[in-house]
Amino acid sequence: MIVGVLSVQGAVSEHLKHLERCAVETAAVKNIESLNKVSGLIIPGGESTTIGKLLDIFGLAEEIRSRSLQGSLAIFGTCAGMVLMAREIMDGIKEQPKLALMDISVQRNAFGRQRESFETELEFYSFDSSLTAVFIRAPLIAKSGPGVKVLARVPEGIVAARQGNLLTTSFHPELTDDLRVHQYFIEMCQNI
Ligand code: GLN
Repeated sequence: MIVGVLSVQGAVSEHLKHLERCAVETAAVKNIESLNKVSGLIIPGGESTTIGKLLDIFGLAEEIRSRSLQGSLAIFGTCAGMVLMAREIMDGIKEQPKLALMDISVQRNAFGRQRESFETELEFYSFDSSLTAVFIRAPLIAKSGPGVKVLARVPEGIVAARQGNLLTTSFHPELTDDLRVHQYFIEMCQNI
């Protein structure tokens, strides 16, 4: 089983290092050929508009969508990745490209300038101790559909959720030493 990291823009190498530390085979996904080899795909943080445009240019958006809808690809979107996975982006630019896979409404840059970048402890579903979460110009899930399981919250709203083979976090689990969120995703990929 190979777990890939979308490698068009953003925090790619940190995710690859975390996956390697979890002893799973990894791939940098840049085109359809590399996408076809993976059972799971991490969409990293970065700039969602840029990543979305590049997904379209490289012809990856349609392939990711159809593999996900067929149930042959698990996806984990962090931060900008969450924005791309959302069915609704509440305050995106007019032509914000998106994959629109998850039944969530996401607000971009939801913490404003005061809390542009911060770290906090939170409870994550099924983990037996709290998790340190790093937020950088992070989005929030403002609304979620009935098929979406909430995995973590902060006082402002939902920051981690799962819907079938889709996982998303507002924060960056690749930026701490804690491997538990990546391990959780790897288990999802093993069940694909
Ligand atoms: N604010 C960025 C966006 O909406 C995401 C920031 C990040 O991924 N760290 O694209």
